[in-house]
Amino acid sequence: MTEMLASYAAGAWYTAPDEGTVVVDAATGDPVARVSATGLDTREMVDHARRVGGPGLRRLTFQARAAALKELATHLDANKAAYHELSLATGATRRDSTGDIDGGIGTTFVFSSRGRRELPDGFLLADGDVEPIGKEGTFVGQHVYTSLRGVVLQVNAFNFPVWGMLEKLAPAVLAGVPTIVKPATQTAHLTAAVMRDIIASGALPEGAVQFLCGSAGDVLDHLGGEDVVAFTGSATTAAALRGNDAVTARAARFNAETDSLNCSILGPDATVGTPEFDLYIKEVSREITTKAGQRCTCIRRAMVPESLVDDVISGIRARLDKVVVGNPRNETVTMGALVSLHQRDEVRDAVAALGRAAETVYGDPMWVEPVDADPERGAFMAPVVLLATGDRPEPHEIEAFGPVTTLIPYGAGADLGALAARGGGSLVGSIVSYDPDFVREAVAGAAPYHGRLLILDRDSAAESTGHGTPMPQLVHGGPGRAGGGEELGGIRGVLHYMQRTALQGTPDVLTAVTGRWVRGARQRDPQVHPFRIPFGALVIGDSFNSQEREVTLADIERFAALSGDHFYAHMDEVAARRNPLFGGRVAHGYFLIAAAAGLFVEPEFGPVLANYGIDALRFLKPVKPGDRIRVRISCKEKSLRAGAGYGEV
Ligand code: NAP
Repeated sequence: MTEMLASYAAGAWYTAPDEGTVVVDAATGDPVARVSATGLDTREMVDHARRVGGPGLRRLTFQARAAALKELATHLDANKAAYHELSLATGATRRDSTGDIDGGIGTTFVFSSRGRRELPDGFLLADGDVEPIGKEGTFVGQHVYTSLRGVVLQVNAFNFPVWGMLEKLAPAVLAGVPTIVKPATQTAHLTAAVMRDIIASGALPEGAVQFLCGSAGDVLDHLGGEDVVAFTGSATTAAALRGNDAVTARAARFNAETDSLNCSILGPDATVGTPEFDLYIKEVSREITTKAGQRCTCIRRAMVPESLVDDVISGIRARLDKVVVGNPRNETVTMGALVSLHQRDEVRDAVAALGRAAETVYGDPMWVEPVDADPERGAFMAPVVLLATGDRPEPHEIEAFGPVTTLIPYGAGADLGALAARGGGSLVGSIVSYDPDFVREAVAGAAPYHGRLLILDRDSAAESTGHGTPMPQLVHGGPGRAGGGEELGGIRGVLHYMQRTALQGTPDVLTAVTGRWVRGARQRDPQVHPFRIPFGALVIGDSFNSQEREVTLADIERFAALSGDHFYAHMDEVAARRNPLFGGRVAHGYFLIAAAAGLFVEPEFGPVLANYGIDALRFLKPVKPGDRIRVRISCKEKSLRAGAGYGEV
């Protein structure tokens, strides 16, 4: 019998005793795996995450968690050839799988490096600057983030079995919160293979990740206010889960990424012959054929100026004529199968429903001749392009989650923001135009209804990552119909799994709590120059007060000669008097910075390696010839770079 996929629960692999659901190969119909979670103790899984996984992760600093992610990503990267083989059974071509598998591993690497660069070597993250509250400076405020004490339950969609797991797991690991992964049944065999390697790698502490392979069962019954449900899938399932007591009564955090009627707007300037017209044709055609259109970010509504509709249809037709549908194991195939016959039938039904408001201008949802495959056993479908024929709501409401898009003509002076908004909120939209005025207006109208907007033109085309690809550096999610959630976005993605708390107290207290020196807190004179103190021995608040130095006219003139900066405010007394800010010659700001270094640097070889730069440098007060300056430096924050042998002060 076909292999039953195991779950990983409370430190052990568990195989359900029943027959389970048989998952079949999307292209051949052959059985691939069986899936069942019958008998799995989900309460024990949640307990294990809270008792073992969470504390294990939180014994590591942010820096150590980032290092663990790098180890994990490196391990998965070495094994990815096997995932690519398994991915073929989901109907995906090798190119499709790259976005899922390499994209997922790449996202893990990105979170590792963002963590190493941006998070402290500690357990608590200060958010923003200190807020002065009391007039005397003895009472200040500071926002901080700490790890939630619960568990992240991921419930994932079938279309990204690897990326969908890793894009949520990586930020949760950085945040110090354990995860239970519940994959979609239809593609669980691929997620399971990656999960086996995650566990085998030993990169993460025990309990940091568990695998619930099969029905979610009653797992939500065990979740509460310290937990997060990170859902990706259909709006219908999201609504059901959002209504669970875990969310409505016990206030578990609920993040949903759901379906989305994403639009792509062609600008009126982008006529035939312009690079933007060609880019649009390429982007729309690629979007509906990548993963056979089964991407939540796929272009479902192609908004085109009325005058360009015929040209766009011809352009898309010419490109889609080259698409080869069939078994993704055949090298000539450029579009594989949908994930299942059930999914194909749902898409056909959706196309039929869209037919009430649109005519088919390319493809036939009921007919396809797949290469190297039996059309009765594989879930194949030809790309279909529809043209909206009136002003009905269907194209803005019905998501055909397959290789389908609807062209929506718009007239001169149309309110494109309002047109985009008819989708009820989307993950992503794109605007393809080389006219900055058009782009500005389209962005202003459409942005409130989108999580991400791609503006594509001839200048960005070569480097553009495309309409449909979420980037780990940028937020992914969208308002309304798209689920109202948000993921990714660099370190923002980590904060979704942490609690923000406003702390109030004295500067000394906040310095002690955050490990970051706060203005007004006690300073310490270490009796030796701070440049002579090794990283480990330097204490937050260690300070140095320099000698004074008088700034002279000769300094200013020598600095002007050396730097070439002869700005009148430094060099011309008469002109400088006319300047309302200075009322006479002043020293160069950059001279003051250079002179400051001369006052505080301790020149001999020692623990200091380099000057990393200056954040938030401002010149607040003019310094005139005859004024005296001095420098006070305090050690504000220290962060050791994991594995680097040095850190930043
Ligand atoms: P789905 O049917 O809603 O399933 C999504 C996940 O929810 C699966 O893991 C499924 O498990 C689980 N699930 C279903 N019913 C559940 C319940 N009552 N309790 C707990 N879990 C439950 O969606 P899908 O068909 O897999 O995915 C396609 C949809 O996802 C499309 O509409 C697409 O737009 C959307 N999507 C959105 C994003 C995004 O980032 N916004 C990304 C990808 C896909 P089983 O598989 O075991 O039933």
